[in-house]
Amino acid sequence: MSQHLLILETECPACRAPLTEGESVHLDAHVDEPNQDGAIFLSAVFGDHTLTTDLEIAAGATAEFRCPHCDASLMLRHLCPLCGAAMASINIASGGYLEFCSRRGCRGHALGGFGDIDQMMSLVNRMLKTPHD
Ligand SMILES: [Zn+2]
Ligand SMILES: [Zn+2]
Repeated sequence: MSQHLLILETECPACRAPLTEGESVHLDAHVDEPNQDGAIFLSAVFGDHTLTTDLEIAAGATAEFRCPHCDASLMLRHLCPLCGAAMASINIASGGYLEFCSRRGCRGHALGGFGDIDQMMSLVNRMLKTPHD
């Protein structure tokens, strides 16, 4: 195991403000049940699926993600292939984007939660700026 932490530098697709703060990605979120607004911090460490939030999100509930800077919705029209909840998307500063599931507890939830290992490896290579061959 490498000791090197791979921090994803992310930005808002609407206003391009950086969303990564330290080792977390700071997003605003809204939860319907019970009605709440607050901040969610996803781990920005590649492959780390942890999340910190003041919101009460029951396991299996979904959140609606927004940019904390411009308030633009980060939600997409297409649905998580694993659980059918709406997906959210943020940009990767070095190029490309990350999609993640809005349902708590879904495997597609966290950053780096790709089902496709080739897609994941190409992202890692892009981030390290070292072509893999
Ligand atoms: Zn924004
Ligand atoms: Zn899902």
